[in-house]
Amino acid sequence: MAFTQHDRNGLVYHTADALSAIPGIVHGFSTRLGGVSTGELASLNLRSPSACGDSKANVEENFRRLCAAVGTNVERVVLTHQVHRENIRYVTEEDAGKGLWRLRDYDADALITDKVDLPITVFSADCIILLLCDPVRRAVGAVHAGWRGTSLNITGQTVQAMTSTFGTDPADLVCAIGPGIGSCCFETHDDVPEAMRAAFGQEAEPFLQPKGMKWTVDLKGINRHCLEMAGVPAGQISMSPLCTACHPELYWSHRAMGDARGVQCAMISLQ
Ligand SMILES: [Zn+2]
Repeated sequence: MAFTQHDRNGLVYHTADALSAIPGIVHGFSTRLGGVSTGELASLNLRSPSACGDSKANVEENFRRLCAAVGTNVERVVLTHQVHRENIRYVTEEDAGKGLWRLRDYDADALITDKVDLPITVFSADCIILLLCDPVRRAVGAVHAGWRGTSLNITGQTVQAMTSTFGTDPADLVCAIGPGIGSCCFETHDDVPEAMRAAFGQEAEPFLQPKGMKWTVDLKGINRHCLEMAGVPAGQISMSPLCTACHPELYWSHRAMGDARGVQCAMISLQ
């Protein structure tokens, strides 16, 4: 299942064709291109100003440009506050604008909603970001899964939360795994493979490869496996081949840049 690249006046983002085919939703995966931030944060930086030293005005303008390109309502975006846990928030009307225009009063690594015009947004600078859509019950989800969240199966737990909250049948879900660090660049010590084996047992092995004294880990592949284990048909899962660490000209990457960097996002909204 393919992704399409869009360029709107220099703002570059991607969409998953399978999500674009669903009427009544809009979504996008941002890059670092097309914003107003400068220096090492050039240019489409979406990171909290307090975390990266960018100006509030720059970050707000970057969100305006992204939302204009994607077709979402910037006044009502709802942002995560990611803490690498499996905390999933059901976003409702009262959360409109939280994290950007209004005080955010929660931590969350995944957001789900069945309300229209609430663009739920997760962030990454290598971590895996996923968008989920249930076209039958009219509900969407957005997930941030770094290695800790992956080992907590936040992705599978988000599917379960959509089932318990909206009555979602996992067989109906259409899912897109966005750009994130690939096994080409995600080298780790023993801690990450040990966490994956503790979580998934033997099923983790195909995604763990020894490399000298270290390991490479296929986080996107593990998250795809988590979706399938939760009941999502393999044919309804799209996975971006792009590695954020391999493409610093296009993506923010903690591996490639350290902490002097911005973040990209995945955003989805029911219309
Ligand atoms: Zn790579």
